[in-house]
Amino acid sequence: MKVPLRNNCKKIEKMSLKNKVAVITGGNSGIGFGIAEALKNEGAKGVIVGRNQQTLDSSVVKLGDNFIAINADVTNLADLERVFKETSEKFGKIDVIVANAGGGTVGTVATLGEAEFDQTIDLNLKSVYFTVNKALPYMNDGGSIILIGSNAAHRAYPNFTLYGAAKSAVIFFAKAFSSDLLGRKIRVNVITPGTTDTPAFDKFIPEDQIDVIKTHFASEMPIGRIGQPSDIGKTAVFLASDDSSFILGAEILVDGGMSYLAK
Ligand code: NDP
Repeated sequence: MKVPLRNNCKKIEKMSLKNKVAVITGGNSGIGFGIAEALKNEGAKGVIVGRNQQTLDSSVVKLGDNFIAINADVTNLADLERVFKETSEKFGKIDVIVANAGGGTVGTVATLGEAEFDQTIDLNLKSVYFTVNKALPYMNDGGSIILIGSNAAHRAYPNFTLYGAAKSAVIFFAKAFSSDLLGRKIRVNVITPGTTDTPAFDKFIPEDQIDVIKTHFASEMPIGRIGQPSDIGKTAVFLASDDSSFILGAEILVDGGMSYLAK
């Protein structure tokens, strides 16, 4: 005998990050905001970190009551200490850290000097190390740490010399940190985005050429489109949740094939 389906029977969805506490650096823009939104949609609460008060404020309005913003510079160790102390005072121990804040300095070995070297390494490498270092005393054992790399670590694109080097080391950090933290069962993984549609991308393109250049970039991607912050967000949800409990020290390419596939 067939049992009739009830039309009003709703699918009961289980939120994979219900009540998990997350901190997302650079959560007020682009990929970081996409990650914060995706974690929130799975039930997480917590903190976004950045320096621009206006975008911090507008982002928390969009994320809703379970998120707050902390204005802090990820290259400043005292600021990082304050972020994790305040987070744990407000929400309790932290389950998920996303070290996402970063950005490029454009130039070659012939043009970039000491100031650019220090600035690029501070923002893309030192900040990642100390985000994790300062977060650890405030984290739950069994937590998940997600680092954000870049496809610039895999191919030597012109002008991404220092940035690519810093991101290569970030990929190594996922392995080394996972090894360091085995005793606490904290897993560390890295997501490598390819070209993704964010305000950072727009910074390098004159406004009147944005559409043409984005179409060109899309045509260069093996998959035929550039990435969206939500593409990275979905992967971050997986790495933050128990669904990825057997994955540590790993790199997940979310790059439309651009790191390894010939077009
Ligand atoms: P955005 O410029 O949109 O966002 C960068 C974020 O980092 C902002 O929220 C910014 O906040 C924050 N940030 C920058 N410097 C600091 C600082 N010193 N202290 C605190 N926060 C800081 O860039 P994306 O979203 O594109 O980039 C996010 C990550 O993804 C970066 O690590 C980037 O390298 C990586 N990536 C991006 C790709 C792309 O194509 N977009 C491709 C591959 C990797 P605020 O301005 O308020 O300080």
